[in-house]
Amino acid sequence: MTVLRQHLIDPEICIRCNTCEETCPIDAITHNDDNYVVNADLCNYCMDCIAPCPTGSIDNWRMVNAAYSIDEQFEWDELPEELELDDETSNSGGEADNEAEDLLHQAHSGARAVPPFSAAHPYINLYSRDDPIIAKVAGNFRITGADTDSDIRHIILDFGSTAFPVLEGQSIGILPPGQTASGKAHTMRLYSIASPRDGERQNHNNVSLTVKRVDGGVASNYLCDLQKGDEVKVIGPFGDSFLMPNHPEANIIMICTGTGSAPFRAFTERRRRKYQDADGKLMLFFGARTPTELPYFGPLNKLPDSLIQKELVFSRQAGKPKEYVQDRMRKSAENIAPLLQDENTFIFVCGLKGMEQGVEEALNDIAASQKVDWAALRNDMLANGRYHVETY
Ligand code: NAP
Repeated sequence: MTVLRQHLIDPEICIRCNTCEETCPIDAITHNDDNYVVNADLCNYCMDCIAPCPTGSIDNWRMVNAAYSIDEQFEWDELPEELELDDETSNSGGEADNEAEDLLHQAHSGARAVPPFSAAHPYINLYSRDDPIIAKVAGNFRITGADTDSDIRHIILDFGSTAFPVLEGQSIGILPPGQTASGKAHTMRLYSIASPRDGERQNHNNVSLTVKRVDGGVASNYLCDLQKGDEVKVIGPFGDSFLMPNHPEANIIMICTGTGSAPFRAFTERRRRKYQDADGKLMLFFGARTPTELPYFGPLNKLPDSLIQKELVFSRQAGKPKEYVQDRMRKSAENIAPLLQDENTFIFVCGLKGMEQGVEEALNDIAASQKVDWAALRNDMLANGRYHVETY
């Protein structure tokens, strides 16, 4: 009897961001209103989808005698248990299995995003949908100006005496209450943590999130309406590669739009608290429509230039030309170029998917001005955990 190792997506963790479906070169991934699924008849284990997945929900495998169909997978609320395959079955399928293992091994060896060498070891998946941690809301503050419709909030969740260890760059899952129109529990929504590892309030067991209210958004409206003292179901933490390098010589170039700034607030605050006099540079390229729409505009402006070079960029400021982060990067080429040639430099990109191409092009041109081949440098940086992109 044949045994195959089937590639599956964990419906409990998947945030339905469509990244896997967009990435799959042979259209083996599809979705309905509920789930993203992998068609076993098409999947060739190329692994292109694994690294870009922000949650790791894509990286699930089951040994099966007959593949689960996509219709079966559409119905799942959670992954099926591992099947007990008897010896005879396992042995007779050994060859097929070995082949799949080889393919997996080969593909994994180049495709996985790796953390910076000096990042601390993260804990992941400590709490699941079946066993979430309950956080209490310690604060919910609007951080955009009153003159804009853009309602972005700084929300603090406290875990009391229950352990919830996190690192800068990690994310947590929020389980919104209620059900979908089809009567299923809402799926988990992923948010980057905006506070450093020792808490939003130093030495407290709490984290902060940066949440933008989206029209009709289930989780964003739930979170933005929370009151102090409300309880929230949280799962995670998630993320084992988009992590802050720990050594003080690390130059960190942070490029973000809007709420994509959340992890960089965590990075910056970590540096401010722990390594104010670090040799490594912090550089932030942060794009928003206007100053009043830029989260943390006031507090960011108070950070000293000796700690961080801030490049706040606005696309819709009255009377001024539109500017994107990649435009400002080109203008700052003389500051970025020497860092590109330094092995202690780490680049993190977070926010709108649309900016990825523009940022890449800017880095390519800045590198080329120094006769550096960006494509080769980028591959080297990726392999060494020095280039990280988290966009939606
Ligand atoms: P937004 O307000 O829609 O956009 C922010 C800025 O980016 C605007 O100035 C916008 O300019 C500009 N922009 C648009 N297209 C661009 C492009 N191709 N290149 C460069 N800049 C561009 O952003 P947002 O609504 O806050 O969304 C941020 C994204 O971050 C979301 O997709 C979110 O899912 C993601 N994210 C959030 C978190 C979190 O924890 N909250 C974490 C990671 C990622 P114009 O609109 O004027 O063109």
